[in-house]
Amino acid sequence: MGVHVPSVTGRERLEYDVRVAAALDRVEVRVCPSGFRVERLNAPSPGAARFLEAGKVGTPESEASCSGECEGVDLPATKRDECVSYAVTLPEQSPDATSLRRVGRDRLASPDLWLWVPTPRPAGVSIHARLELPAGVSAALPWPSLPLTAQPGSPIEFSVPETAFAWKAAGAFSHAALEPLSPELSWVSLGEGFEHAADVRAWILEGARSASLLFGRFPVPHALLIAVPSDRPGPAFGMALRGGGAAVTVFLNRHADAAALRRDWTTSHEFLHLGVPRLPLEDAWLFEGLATYYTEVTRARAGLISPEQAYQHLLDGFERGRRAGGALTLREESEQMHERRSFQRVYWAGAALALLTDLSARRAAGPTLDSALRSFAGCCAASEEEWTAERVLARVDAALGAPRFTELSRQWLDRREFPDVGEALRALGVAPGSQGRAVFGRGHDAALRDAIMARAAP
Ligand SMILES: [Zn+2]
Repeated sequence: MGVHVPSVTGRERLEYDVRVAAALDRVEVRVCPSGFRVERLNAPSPGAARFLEAGKVGTPESEASCSGECEGVDLPATKRDECVSYAVTLPEQSPDATSLRRVGRDRLASPDLWLWVPTPRPAGVSIHARLELPAGVSAALPWPSLPLTAQPGSPIEFSVPETAFAWKAAGAFSHAALEPLSPELSWVSLGEGFEHAADVRAWILEGARSASLLFGRFPVPHALLIAVPSDRPGPAFGMALRGGGAAVTVFLNRHADAAALRRDWTTSHEFLHLGVPRLPLEDAWLFEGLATYYTEVTRARAGLISPEQAYQHLLDGFERGRRAGGALTLREESEQMHERRSFQRVYWAGAALALLTDLSARRAAGPTLDSALRSFAGCCAASEEEWTAERVLARVDAALGAPRFTELSRQWLDRREFPDVGEALRALGVAPGSQGRAVFGRGHDAALRDAIMARAAP
């Protein structure tokens, strides 16, 4: 969908006027180009067309239809600078409840369901959205908001990064206001919120703090966290998304208390994801592997778990990953991770490669994987370019001063066996004892074992 034409004036604009209905079940959108013509309007994500009201897009003189699983509508009769309009209904439930659902009076509604996408666009077109919201409702969107009006009830304006048109995004309309937790992080909880809201807030901040230990600071200039209370028991489920800006959606049991939250690593893990730009699904082994390994490492460094617990979790995870695979190579399992639900395999094989790279760098006593990831995040965490694992690893290896990660990935990506961590664990003096309980012995790299998890200065 990244179809561009050369800019003529360098000043082309695209304006969205979005009016959200009082019940938050409908948005009316007017899309106005300035300096070009809307030739085609595309569904912003697969399946989004089913929410297009009456399957229609209107122009001042005509209507165009888009029904069923259509991908977009051609608008052959539009003129330069002519607006087109459409409406999207937001049902209470949808096939993908992680991007659209009703939560009490509020609505989780990812903009990739309602922000239709014109093509072709002049390169570098500046995109703005003006949202008119019902009284008392705020828009939780990852887009940078523009300092404007400031009068209560007046529309709010956003500058919309073009990644909003290409990548999965998070978003919600909420009766609660966005609350800043730090200069880099705002959050909102939907619906009735959480029974232990102060504990949930503290848990989000702990996650941000532990992830920041790896990068030396919060990995991106700004992120939005949308917390969705649910009745589902057990630990939280989170997603780090990049469409239109960095955002994390977390689904968490509404009764989760401080004790349950202390055991829950979801926020640490999701914020770690923000240290690496968006990667395609076939590179999930790297994206998830880094976050999975460093979830344990940074939580130990933050004092949220002990180093022994961190190694126990790594041993357990490697074992689950080893048992879960074997039919396909790691590269194939990553490509088909969602269809085959091979999460354990992909996450933990990637984590194993991260541990092996970390250890090889520490043995060489040069730059560590920590410092390489820190410098990488400094340049590229908020990048809006299309990245691949290969490109990320080239940068990380350049910072490591040797192609450590690239070579390990070449060694293991096309094999069915789980990466061999036996030698590394023996050297670190970490062994699965009876019933899998970690036993810590001597090992010639025992000092590195302790260094990896060493408690950070507060
Ligand atoms: Zn993850």
